[in-house]
Amino acid sequence: MRRLAAPVLVLAFIGVAIADIKIGGLLEAGEDIVEMAFNSAVERINTHGLAEPGERYTPTSDRLLTRVEHIERSDSFQASRKVCTLLEEGVAAVFGPQSTDASFAVRSACETLDVPHIETHWDYRSRTTNHSLNLYPHPSALGKAYLDFIKYKDWKNFAILYEENDALVRLQEILKDATLMKENRVTVRQFEPGTEYRKTLKDIGKTGIKNIVLDVPIKSLYTVLKHAQQVDMMSEYHNYFITSLDAHTIDTEDFQYGGTNISAFRLIDFSSKEIDEVARDWIQRRHRFSSKKSSSVQSFNTGDQDFYKNLTTKVALMYDAVRLFATALKDLHPDTGPKITVQPLSCEREHKWSQGNAFVKYMRMINIKGLTGNIRFNKDGHRTDMRLTVLDMAHSGWREAGEWTMLGGINITTNYTRELEEARLSLLNKTLVVTTILQPPYVMYKEKWRELGLTGNDKYEGYCIDLLDSIASSEHFINNMKYVIREVADHSYGGRDADGRWNGMIGELLNGKADLAVADLTITYVREEAVDFTMPFMTLGISILYKKTAKPPPGLFSFLDPLSLEVWIYMMTAFLGVSLFLFVLARFSPYEWVNPHPCEGNPEELDNQFTIWNTLWFTIGCLMQQGCDVTPRALSTRVAAGMWWFFTLIMVSSYTANLAAFLTVERLVSPIESVEDLAKQTTIQYGCLRSGSTQSFFKDSQFPTYAKMWHVMQSQRPTVFAESNQKGIDRVLRGKYAYLMESTSIEYNIERNCDLTQIGSLLDNKGYGIATPPGSPYRTMLSQAILRLQENGDLHVLKERWWKKQRITKKCPKDIINKGTSAMTVASVGGVFIVLLVGSCVAVISAIIEFIWRAKKIVPEERDPLCVELCRELKFTLTCGSKKPLARPRSDENLAIAATDNGMPFMPITGFGLHNKNTFS
Ligand code: ASP
Repeated sequence: MRRLAAPVLVLAFIGVAIADIKIGGLLEAGEDIVEMAFNSAVERINTHGLAEPGERYTPTSDRLLTRVEHIERSDSFQASRKVCTLLEEGVAAVFGPQSTDASFAVRSACETLDVPHIETHWDYRSRTTNHSLNLYPHPSALGKAYLDFIKYKDWKNFAILYEENDALVRLQEILKDATLMKENRVTVRQFEPGTEYRKTLKDIGKTGIKNIVLDVPIKSLYTVLKHAQQVDMMSEYHNYFITSLDAHTIDTEDFQYGGTNISAFRLIDFSSKEIDEVARDWIQRRHRFSSKKSSSVQSFNTGDQDFYKNLTTKVALMYDAVRLFATALKDLHPDTGPKITVQPLSCEREHKWSQGNAFVKYMRMINIKGLTGNIRFNKDGHRTDMRLTVLDMAHSGWREAGEWTMLGGINITTNYTRELEEARLSLLNKTLVVTTILQPPYVMYKEKWRELGLTGNDKYEGYCIDLLDSIASSEHFINNMKYVIREVADHSYGGRDADGRWNGMIGELLNGKADLAVADLTITYVREEAVDFTMPFMTLGISILYKKTAKPPPGLFSFLDPLSLEVWIYMMTAFLGVSLFLFVLARFSPYEWVNPHPCEGNPEELDNQFTIWNTLWFTIGCLMQQGCDVTPRALSTRVAAGMWWFFTLIMVSSYTANLAAFLTVERLVSPIESVEDLAKQTTIQYGCLRSGSTQSFFKDSQFPTYAKMWHVMQSQRPTVFAESNQKGIDRVLRGKYAYLMESTSIEYNIERNCDLTQIGSLLDNKGYGIATPPGSPYRTMLSQAILRLQENGDLHVLKERWWKKQRITKKCPKDIINKGTSAMTVASVGGVFIVLLVGSCVAVISAIIEFIWRAKKIVPEERDPLCVELCRELKFTLTCGSKKPLARPRSDENLAIAATDNGMPFMPITGFGLHNKNTFS
């Protein structure tokens, strides 16, 4: 309200109110509809006031009268003469004309006499003057909308094609944008004058650019699009953005079904309440209007649809301009505010209209809703704050896809379901071209296809062919997807050549030669930047394919192989250690000393069977699982012997089992075990497929081993890169060559060729996917179908079929490489040694217990203290000889103990009691 105060105050001092206000229109030839809009707006205001549909009718105080002058198109001389005629008739404002030059002439006349000049066309020269107002969006605002749209689309590259020089001004926001220009994404071409658009379009097509910003006058737009269609520039992979705000008026019938992505902005707000009433009004007027004019008059055809199609921005803006003027006028009603007076003015004289400037200022401050949305001006008098509707071409014609506003920028409301439906429908009449490469088991010729006379798709079979078939018949496509299979011309998967151009299947997708690439095509980052991939249908990694090394002839000492050298050494040590231990233990234990002649009641000496030789014989007998007639009697020796038996049991069983494996299994001895081994040596050459993802993997790798391998591969002459996997395999079979190949293909080949084997694990992890040109509408459907096949287990069944069942002539014996048949190390049998050690400790403890037990049973008077007896026994133990003199017990009690303990009528121990002392001293 504050903003309005100043001009209203100015106008408050103005003289007498008048009933009729004349407004002048300067219309160029062929603008009958603009004229109709001009007149209809005035008539509607005079009869219905300014009330919006549904609002109460509020009549305006002043009646508007129109005064129209016609001029030739862009005739500025005529325009400047005719504006003077209008001014002499006392018009309160001049509307039009549309062409920039003529309008410029009118503007200067109006400026001189301070008469409001209301324009409705794009004009980059438009500057703020006190007396003029342009309802057309300001070039800077429109430029920003274009830029926002391009940025939203995020095209990798695009071409700007224009016809008139003005276009460069219109698109300057894009051309000024540092990021777009820096990345060299924009190609700018002007159509050569003379409407031969085909040549320029063809040239752009050859560069592979699929995204086009089209700036041509609306009258040429249809022809340009038609020419684009003729030179194959209107496929579903092409995107067009039309800068004209009238794109909705062209006949779209020819472009709706091709699936080309065509977008444009529209200023007219078809959702405004007023538009339907205006439509009805204009359709009624059509009859009156066309009966007055000749048959050549451009008019609306029957039906609402045609009204909307023919409603151009300039027509709507003219209507809005009149309403804006009328709103300002209404605000200046005698009852509600100041009044205006108009008077005839002459171009010859300097006499100005005193209220002109204030009137225009007032118009700039008010805000109305019109056919072109909200009409408001910024402080400079420019219309920058407007709403543009984003239009997309669909099967049914133009479709509203979102909007652009100065504050909110681009806001696209994507309806995926609708998009999918559109894509599905577009497939109904289309046969997709599928590019592929011959690679078993993915794509192969059927056996005897020539003899059977098979052609086209019928001659192929394989995993990918079955996959394609399952996808095509899935419920994601209406009436099955139709396709024709073509082999890629250069027999490559797709890599970038020296000048950055893609070859192989990727190249064919980008050149528009194919719609899909279905093969064992790896999804990689660089490829994903150029084309689109579906969900992966198989996962894999790079590995090494190598020739199996022949089994070495068995050696004389192969029987030693099951155990590693260190285990053999440990075993020998254990054998000697246990023998010695048992020898000492048996001498120490009192229960191992026995009467050598059981028939003799009172032996002089006791005997011990565990002499050093007997002990060695005993342990070796156990180790060899033979046993011997030396058997331990005491608990301690039995514990020690038991542990040794346990040890020998485990060791012998392990040895036997491993020996069996060594003798029966085909053992592979490969000079390389991993990719690191391969990188380290120089005798075996290695390479991979040319122009594939495996090559790119090594080429782009920063990992030192792989980078080094790439360096080596590159420097090899003759080349180590194979033209096809089959050639790589043949070279492997010739020997001294390792082929870096994808694991799934390795798996397939080693299943069929028993001379081949995989070395080491996977170097990376990736997947195969179906590739489509960028922005393909079919990608989502294909991904959905792949997911469904995966969930159903169909992909697994296909894999089993093509890897394990089809085309297998003989089964290769399973290679159990090293893992099961390697010599046993301490790591696998160390536990047994520990058990043996623990057992020995238990045996020592039992020997001591035995000794104490036995000693305790002797009458204390007849023996020395326990530790003295113990030391004496130990000393004896360490001396040689297997005989021990027997000391007689002095009491009958001890004799009885001896009889119960040993079952003998004498005591088989020495060293207890005083006698012993005498014996050994
Ligand atoms: N499948 C690979 C590709 O897509 C071929 C390869 O490099 O082994 O390039």
